[in-house]
Amino acid sequence: MGNEKRRGSSRVCWSLLLLLVLSGCAQVATHDVMVEVVPGDYSQVEELAHKLQKAPSQMGVSNIDFDSEESASDRADQGESVVMLTAPLVGDVQKRISRKPFGIKIDPATSPVQPERFRGYHTGVDFEVTQEELSQDMDVFAICDGAIVRIDDVSGYGGVITQLCPSVNAGGDVYVLYGHISRTDTVVTQGQSVSAGSKITELGDHLSAESGGERKHLHLGISRTQDVRGYVQDAAALEDWFDFQNFTL
Ligand SMILES: [Zn+2]
Repeated sequence: MGNEKRRGSSRVCWSLLLLLVLSGCAQVATHDVMVEVVPGDYSQVEELAHKLQKAPSQMGVSNIDFDSEESASDRADQGESVVMLTAPLVGDVQKRISRKPFGIKIDPATSPVQPERFRGYHTGVDFEVTQEELSQDMDVFAICDGAIVRIDDVSGYGGVITQLCPSVNAGGDVYVLYGHISRTDTVVTQGQSVSAGSKITELGDHLSAESGGERKHLHLGISRTQDVRGYVQDAAALEDWFDFQNFTL
């Protein structure tokens, strides 16, 4: 009698457990992780990664669609006008983009560069140099054909050269800003037209006035406007800038 009761209640328990598991699975199966990713805003990618880390493994999250841009070669195959940018420094420039890519949200406490004095969304791409290159002359090359429109000192950068390049894909001209450069080693003049790949200057020395007191590196910004800000406080403002790694003329 007592045994039958226990068997009965355990059957109910198993049924309830099965029901719970099934209903739990149904909820999980219809649960989508939705994160809108703004191109270049890595804070949202971090947020997504964080959510996935916290998600239970049985959630079965397998298909995450990032709004990835088509590669330049895909677009060229489709007959689009695609002119690639020229590398601004020697070597594998993609490997040089190791600390501050386009759009990264910088905070002094968590910045990949320490010590850090800037805050906000990065409007350009930083190309780093190696330890050996800190003491070597580093030529900076024009990334496109176009006229030099400004050679100046700008707070936060030290030396700055701005070049105006025509771009079909941007729907007009773009301003290319080369920041932290040496004005004394600059070999172009304002108004001069330069070809992609030709030397325009050299990087400013490490932690010098030429580099705005920053480490030796190149900040390269591509913008619709002459705005020289290296950071903006609102992610939406990044719309005026383009990412070197995705941009074609
Ligand atoms: Zn920068």
